[in-house]
Amino acid sequence: MKTNHMTSEYDLHCHSSASDGTLTPSELVRQAHAAGVKTLALTDHDTVAGIPEAVREAATTDMTLLAAIELSVTWRGKCLHLVGLNIDSAFEPLLRGIDKIQATRIDRAEQIARRLAKKGIEGASDAVNALADKGMITRTHFARFIVSQDKADSLQHAFDRYLSRGKPAYVPTIWATLEEAVGWIRGAGGIAVLAHPLRYKLSSNAMRKLLSAFKESGGQGIEVVCGRNNSGDIQTSAGHARRFNLAGSVGSDFHSPENPWIALGRLAPLPADITPVWSLW
Ligand code: AMP
Ligand code: MN
Ligand code: MN
Ligand code: MN
Repeated sequence: MKTNHMTSEYDLHCHSSASDGTLTPSELVRQAHAAGVKTLALTDHDTVAGIPEAVREAATTDMTLLAAIELSVTWRGKCLHLVGLNIDSAFEPLLRGIDKIQATRIDRAEQIARRLAKKGIEGASDAVNALADKGMITRTHFARFIVSQDKADSLQHAFDRYLSRGKPAYVPTIWATLEEAVGWIRGAGGIAVLAHPLRYKLSSNAMRKLLSAFKESGGQGIEVVCGRNNSGDIQTSAGHARRFNLAGSVGSDFHSPENPWIALGRLAPLPADITPVWSLW
């Protein structure tokens, strides 16, 4: 099916150099503004460190910047992502929660580097620390390093060869629980949204169980329009939203201008009967 991309005034999922995006928070805000976005949520992985700079930059424009985050969650042994929108980024329990996830990320990075060394890729630890600078270290940083060493010819290839689940440098990791993550987001006054629901490859039975557990924990939204969705994907995700009475979110999951497939604000509209997540704030 053909995808009908257009500019959306809302882009509620994107990354800066505070995690695995390549633009600084200010550059990201400027590019989103130039793309016609009116409300942008900065959703870095497990950190709110980029928010103050993004807020300052957005204040020089007519664009609204929402404090937000993308939290890593382990549910039934699977890694899921929850986006927390319109949060108080100074909420103490959230900050304590992400401190713990950040420590897990640092440990995991050392283990990934050791596994890569066994596969003949040396020096990954220092390299990803330099690439991430003061931001979160993610597998994306490892993928960029692997490509720079000519051990893969694209990020996708680096994941397929080394970093994805079941591959030699994959480290099983226990992140926050679903209940904890939703609790931190709600406690911080935010809306918890299940990110990119189709990327987990869940059976319809598992998806039902996940969405029931998510609702029961206080989850209120689901991404219905994501950067790479076609119209069939949007209909499938909208079906989940209807069935579980969840609001719909739209977000590009933009990481870098080097990936021309995913641009800021270039998103199809929400189906008309879906409650927009922004009507909840
Ligand atoms: P992490 O949270 O450290 O496990 O890293 C997850 C990030 O890696 C995701 O947010 C994506 O940005 C990126 N990622 C995961 N799988 C792929 C893939 N197959 N190709 C490119 N990037 C990926
Ligand atoms: Mn990412
Ligand atoms: Mn994600
Ligand atoms: Mn993301």
